Amino acid sequence: MDIFDPVIKEIREILPSLPLFENEPMAKHSSFKIGGPARAFAVPEDITAFSRITHILKKHKLMPFITGNCTNILFPDEGLKELFIISTERMNRMFLLPDGSIYAEAGVSLSKLSSFACQNSLTGLEFASGIPGTVGGGILMNAGAYGGEMKDVVESVVIYYLPEQKLYETLKENCGFGYRKSAFQNIAGCAIVSAVFRLERGYKEAIAAKMKELNEKRRDKQPLDLPSAGSAFKRPEGNFAAKLIEECGLKGYAVGGAMVSDKHAGFVVNTGNACSHDVYDLMMHVRNTVWLQKGVELVPEIIILPPDYKLSDNTPDAPLHVISGGAASDDTDFKEQN
Ligand SMILES: Cc1cc2nc3c(=O)[nH]c(=O)nc-3n(C[C@H](O)[C@H](O)[C@H](O)COP(=O)(O)OP(=O)(O)OC[C@H]3O[C@@H](n4cnc5c(N)ncnc54)[C@H](O)[C@@H]3O)c2cc1C
Repeated sequence: MDIFDPVIKEIREILPSLPLFENEPMAKHSSFKIGGPARAFAVPEDITAFSRITHILKKHKLMPFITGNCTNILFPDEGLKELFIISTERMNRMFLLPDGSIYAEAGVSLSKLSSFACQNSLTGLEFASGIPGTVGGGILMNAGAYGGEMKDVVESVVIYYLPEQKLYETLKENCGFGYRKSAFQNIAGCAIVSAVFRLERGYKEAIAAKMKELNEKRRDKQPLDLPSAGSAFKRPEGNFAAKLIEECGLKGYAVGGAMVSDKHAGFVVNTGNACSHDVYDLMMHVRNTVWLQKGVELVPEIIILPPDYKLSDNTPDAPLHVISGGAASDDTDFKEQN
């Protein structure tokens, strides 16, 4: 018996059909194929179920960790015995708004979002078609590729602020977007629920051709045949992490089952049986070597969760707002929604 038993029982009573797994191996979900069991892993399909789960967690002073497709996270082998994870991957409705913008929930994959834009002859999201994450993870990380970033196409974002159990809407200019960062990374208890994307009208064939070209480029240059979490390090100012790593002779360097890809030195790949410690030790070795040889400090892009990671919520209890979802449309910053 631990503090999660009554929480899980209560959630199951209220949401009997919710996919809710106990001691769920995160290796099953992570693109790295690494990670021990999380105490609980829930996959709600809409904001109503999401808010009911978080309300119960809050009553027990627990804060969930929110994930999308887990393509940018290194989970610890030891597991996360005190963590309740909520994945937003099934919250994935998407539609065209009357003004031609696209509304997409957090769990929509970036590839589906860019295909939908293409089908509707909307240009601007071609860069995202090969990024394996979701709208939620993409916005939190301000994901980008080939000169495009989420910040170029996001018009507004709706977040669910867990300490207050309320929805807020914010416009792009207040999202604090920078290179692989957003203001949402600094707000404890912030779940991205949906976003509106503003794109330009274009030609379907040209958009499809651009997506094909970029995806071929990706397949040529990146080790997509092996599990990874994308670029291991952020691009240092005025330089490229992969170039520095390669110049330090680290291409193909391995620790246990983790290896600096011999196809693209910016990627750390799992060659079969890597554990989280192999990846971590390898990344630290790369970081130290690049610092000593080049004087450049590499900063990890991958989110590394430590084994004892847990989240609590000690803010005052908040009433349950049952939410039915909806598109963001106003022009205020962090506007409260009903
Ligand atoms: C082969 C490969 C290629 C890649 N190429 C690129 C690339 O070209 N460009 C690039 O930028 N990235 C790339 N990535 C990294 C990754 O796909 C992106 O960072 C992506 O945006 C992460 O989305 P996700 O849904 O997987 O997020 P996750 O990995 O699940 O989560 C990432 C972070 O976002 C948070 N998060 C996720 N969803 C929510 C939500 N709804 N609300 C609040 N927080 C949330 C998590 O807590 C975590 O901190 C690549 C990864 C792989 C494996």
